[in-house]
Amino acid sequence: MADAIAFIDLAAQQARIRGHIDAAIKKMLDHGQYIMGPEVAAFEGALGEFAGASDVVSCSSGTDAVMMPLMAWGIQAGDAVFCPSFTFAATAEVVALLGATPVFVDVEADSMNMDPAALERAIEELSRNSDLRPRAVIAVDLFGRAADYPAIRAICDQHGLKLLSDAAQGLGATIDGKHSLHWADVVATSFFPAKPLGCYGDGGAILTNDAVHAATLRSLRVHGKGRDKYDCVRIGLNGRLDTLQAAILIEKLKIFPDEIERRNVVAQRYAEALGNVVKAPKLPTDQISVWAQYTVQLPEADKRSAIQQAMKAQGVPTAVYYPLPLHRQKAYEEFPVSGGALPVSDGLSEVVMSLPMHPYLQEAEQDRVIEALKAAL
Ligand SMILES: *Cc1c(COP(=O)(O)O)cnc(C)c1O
Repeated sequence: MADAIAFIDLAAQQARIRGHIDAAIKKMLDHGQYIMGPEVAAFEGALGEFAGASDVVSCSSGTDAVMMPLMAWGIQAGDAVFCPSFTFAATAEVVALLGATPVFVDVEADSMNMDPAALERAIEELSRNSDLRPRAVIAVDLFGRAADYPAIRAICDQHGLKLLSDAAQGLGATIDGKHSLHWADVVATSFFPAKPLGCYGDGGAILTNDAVHAATLRSLRVHGKGRDKYDCVRIGLNGRLDTLQAAILIEKLKIFPDEIERRNVVAQRYAEALGNVVKAPKLPTDQISVWAQYTVQLPEADKRSAIQQAMKAQGVPTAVYYPLPLHRQKAYEEFPVSGGALPVSDGLSEVVMSLPMHPYLQEAEQDRVIEALKAAL
């Protein structure tokens, strides 16, 4: 059997920039400012430039990045936050952690992102049937594709809701050349190693164009500090990004635009080869995805594990994101499900399968993935 293909090849990326990473780490060891060293502010500045944000607050994880804006807005018990169920747990988890109520909204079958029409129904249904106060919407850029921000922004404006973009998978994705912050009040992202822009540990960032909000986030990041860390003006957390990770991210951000282009070349090849055999992702021409995952929808739900096994035997790894939507998970079964059921989320969880995707996937390797999938089907 030929060597197994990498699902995400972080080693190839590291080989490309290893000299710069080593030098950046050495510089950090020499100055010794492990917490909030100069690389943190330097990285925040560079990221803001990349994503069109006047303020960037780096933090310890994508999970904290989603939670901290909700804290800054005072989201609490009795508040409702609308979010998809077909997403990673962190999206809804932080809402529940603050004592508020995640209200699950269905997604669209094609984009796999929040369905604006379902959101609208969810908001109306809540105002009829519940004492919960609608406060915010969390839209997720699933698999690297931007949610339908123009439509969701309009709905949020109509109902006085805040809009948080969970771009843990979608940093760099654009609609009509604009990043999600063009529409969202705030954007949260993650630098978990396997995300499109990953560090070598945990990390995250919050992007906003609201300086007052950013100041609150900076306070929350260090135990709710006021004048200094021993002056506590609110309940916060220890949510800082390590200087070490910022130093690494500065180097990785430099090649990120090129990596996004490479991911799009890979995606284009997949779409051409697989468009007739599975439901391959199809983007409107005004959108650019960062392809955190290349996720196809299989024609038959019950053959998925057999297909995965057959591909694995050919050295081709696959993954399922997500096998169980959040509203079907034990930890979330008490929370409201808009309309009583989420048929699209349920259906997707049975047919989705993600293929190897990274900027360094060689054409010959990709051809093996394509052949293995066709043979397995
Ligand atoms: C990964 C992820 C998060 C959480 O990021 P961490 O850095 O792992 O805490 C949140 N939301 C989504 C959609 C994610 O994919």
